Amino acid sequence: MANARCSCGALRLTLPDEPKAVIACHCIECQRRTGAPFGAGAFYPAEAVTISGTARQYTRDAASGGKVHSYFCPDCGSSVCWKTDNLPTMIGVALGALDNTSLLPVPAKSIFERSKHHWVRIEDAGEHFQQGSVIRHAD
Ligand SMILES: [Zn+2]
Ligand SMILES: [Zn+2]
Repeated sequence: MANARCSCGALRLTLPDEPKAVIACHCIECQRRTGAPFGAGAFYPAEAVTISGTARQYTRDAASGGKVHSYFCPDCGSSVCWKTDNLPTMIGVALGALDNTSLLPVPAKSIFERSKHHWVRIEDAGEHFQQGSVIRHAD
């Protein structure tokens, strides 16, 4: 099993070894959530993810409709994972929270490139979108 955690370690996730997808997102909301030039997440079936510790939830409107629910550590503030109303069976985990990223695939999709920082180079991503893209179940 793989693991992810916040900066202080109070919020931890136990994950399956293989994510269903890795997505890079350059939308403004992901930039604000992470404080980084873009957000990147590994997506896992929600029922296969165990969350331990206390998370605070922040909910916002999604560009594609519905809501996005972000979970962060109330002690250190790390944004660790999120769910969306559009895809309630999956959980997105911030790549920076994962313990072991050596076997992760390159992002299958790079989305919302319309707000990508001009110096970010992500040519290896499988598909590129100016706006969003529906994430489907890979199984
Ligand atoms: Zn923490
Ligand atoms: Zn985004």
